[in-house]
Amino acid sequence: MTGGAGFLGSHFCEALLASGTSVVCLDNLLTGARRNVEPLLGDPRFELVHHDIAEEPFTADVDLVVHMASPASPEHYRRHPVETLRAGSDGTRHALRLAEHRGARFLLLSTSEVYGDPLRHPQPESYRGNVDPVGPRAVYDEAKRYAEALTAAFRDSRGVDVRIARMFNSYGPRMRPDDGRMVPTFVRQALRGDPITVAGTGEQTRSLCYVDDSVRGLLALVGSGWQDPVNIGDPHEASVLRTAQLIRDLAGSRSPIVHVAAAADDPRRRCPDISLAERVLGWQPEVPVEDGLRRTITWFREELDRAA
Ligand code: UDP
Repeated sequence: MTGGAGFLGSHFCEALLASGTSVVCLDNLLTGARRNVEPLLGDPRFELVHHDIAEEPFTADVDLVVHMASPASPEHYRRHPVETLRAGSDGTRHALRLAEHRGARFLLLSTSEVYGDPLRHPQPESYRGNVDPVGPRAVYDEAKRYAEALTAAFRDSRGVDVRIARMFNSYGPRMRPDDGRMVPTFVRQALRGDPITVAGTGEQTRSLCYVDDSVRGLLALVGSGWQDPVNIGDPHEASVLRTAQLIRDLAGSRSPIVHVAAAADDPRRRCPDISLAERVLGWQPEVPVEDGLRRTITWFREELDRAA
């Protein structure tokens, strides 16, 4: 698995080990962290390798290749634009070549960002997106769109057995408190009593999927025979302002909510149509957002105490 020491990757490593699978976890630790997988290091079936899949191919005797290495928060991919494009391009090619040589199944972690600022709502897999190829989000959106195209090309021209997951805003423990994304930022601000910074009016929406549900969806996809893209996300859509209020309430915080400048090219609405996942994977999210946020807040509280 590439990017296995990231937020989502570390949870996926854990789930694979729990299902009896040995895991070789590659990470260049650009935005991932060794600490995320520290508890797994004692397991003889787990190996962490410091490796940049965009720089160099990798060989190992595996029957599943999962490619999720990439900066994923807008702040991180803006700080590392070329690395982000290379993770989606050269990184995906190297990961696909490994799957091809080993006859292994291949799972690409793609994103709802392939839909850009969507003009269709909610977004089904058939929607082709509204992306500015040179906009502020382009390095991530276009890298993942290219990664999907390359994955489909290896499927069609080289017979690689591929899976493509389009992930919508996952959240949970082990998000980096400083990654700039909505959930870790609001939770950190609420716990410290700092102002909660809502971008623009806060009317823009996101649909938050608890990481355990995301990982269950990924396992179901790997186990399925479905070779086209599938949305993995929670269809409960909420405005950013509503989410700020909810996090403040659940954290028992008295932080004021303040409005800051809107992010450039910020998608106005995002919500997955998950009817395909329900039909072909028999999967849907189960964790209500209040429960998931409570677990996330508990984890962040311990994390911030530890750091202090
Ligand atoms: N956002 C916000 N305040 C913050 C961080 C994010 O209002 O401190 C907003 C952001 O403008 C966007 C939404 O929250 O509308 C989700 O942003 P995030 O960075 O979590 O991920 P995205 O879905 O945009 O990739």
